[in-house]
Amino acid sequence: MADTLIRRMSSADLDFDAALTALLDWESVSNPSVVATVADVLAKVRGEGDAAILEFTRRFDSWEPKAAADLEIPKSRIDAALANINADVRAALETAAERIKTYHQHQRQESWSYREADGTLLGQQITALDRVGLYVPGGKATYPSSVLMNAIPAKVAGVGELIMVSPTPKGFVNDMVLAAAAIAGVDRVFTIGGAQAIAALAYGSETIPKVDKIVGPGNIYVATAKRQVFGSVGLDMIAGPSEILIICDGKTDPDWIAMDLFSQAEHDEDAQSILLSPDANFLNQVEASISRLLPESERADIIRSSMVSRGALVLVNDMDDAIAISNRIAPEHLELSVDDAEQWLPKIRHAGAIFMGRYTPEALGDYCAGPNHVLPTSGTARFSSPLGVYDFQKRSSLIACSAAGASELAKVASVLARGESLQAHARSAEYRILGDCDE
Ligand code: NAD
Repeated sequence: MADTLIRRMSSADLDFDAALTALLDWESVSNPSVVATVADVLAKVRGEGDAAILEFTRRFDSWEPKAAADLEIPKSRIDAALANINADVRAALETAAERIKTYHQHQRQESWSYREADGTLLGQQITALDRVGLYVPGGKATYPSSVLMNAIPAKVAGVGELIMVSPTPKGFVNDMVLAAAAIAGVDRVFTIGGAQAIAALAYGSETIPKVDKIVGPGNIYVATAKRQVFGSVGLDMIAGPSEILIICDGKTDPDWIAMDLFSQAEHDEDAQSILLSPDANFLNQVEASISRLLPESERADIIRSSMVSRGALVLVNDMDDAIAISNRIAPEHLELSVDDAEQWLPKIRHAGAIFMGRYTPEALGDYCAGPNHVLPTSGTARFSSPLGVYDFQKRSSLIACSAAGASELAKVASVLARGESLQAHARSAEYRILGDCDE
């Protein structure tokens, strides 16, 4: 049974490169039928506003909002959720929120400027976005933690208004999600999800305000919709399914490693959990742990599907081999379950978040360590970063020329402008040359 649950691979296999490429292959946002469904949803919401949002919510989320007003959760309901939530849950949310805020305060960018000898000032002014949409997934599971992770960096950045959307399958509203929204300072909450929610935020409707940027992860419909609205609205990233890559020297409890793999697999059938180890016997032990622990897992079916279709236990030569493979994968989450994990940091080139040591399971980062859990997936850690305060700030360039400074710059600009045959540019600059006269 064990070998049907998760595939075994070895980096020494002749076809390892091809097998790894096939394992990593993920074509979520180019699935033609999803692309077509999403395009239809976007066009209808753009053209028909609330009426289309109501129709798609009824169709995809299996509940019957009677009117558009039913799509917004009143502030009193959000406050009540916070007031009535279990005290331990509230304390945990508040502790997590405080830690996330403290961490993200370090990311705040400040305006800067400098003055040149002739008095010319150059610099950069930082401003927060006016209004942001936060997508909090809610189809198969609810994610109060995602509320905190999306909203708190926006608040730290100083965003004017936070609009949250989260689907409510069968009309069920999760009080923990609402309590998290209250703690994080979300301004308005709408009970919509999927492509229709992304369209509503991007284009606006009679009820849903149009936002400047949409952040937050979601399933294939959400990711595809985000890609299609890009340009009308800013985006954080196009998130694929969650993934974890664990590098273990063989000295961590195999049950711990199996459960760390499960912690990603339980998100989604398409989630990816991979373990690299130079110790073949340890891989056998983890495989046995997987078989033993799976039946007692509440989300066993999702975990099994994820493990069978996209999981792997990979025998590697040594740590350098493991890190080379990790850099190729550019994982969303990388666990270094080894002695003195920090020594390997200089060799890690690409990873959304790096969890170091046997006592740092990725789950702690998901909830409360402090860093953001919205991370680049599907290899995009090669060129992008975790969601952060910087995603909610913009930069404006500042230029203020003194008369003497303008005169010197104008001589340079004039030459370049005439070289580009842009006469008005050249003359505009030349007017500022001291002692010069019109041509
Ligand atoms: P979701 O909110 O992303 O999607 C639910 C919505 O999908 C529904 O409201 C519906 O509108 C739409 N939908 C479902 N089936 C559809 C169909 N056949 N046609 C059109 N629309 C349809 O919730 P989910 O499905 O649970 O997915 C959540 C995803 O977010 C998972 O992949 C999970 O791994 C990911 N996630 C990622 C992070 C992260 O930080 N990267 C955190 C939490 C969750």
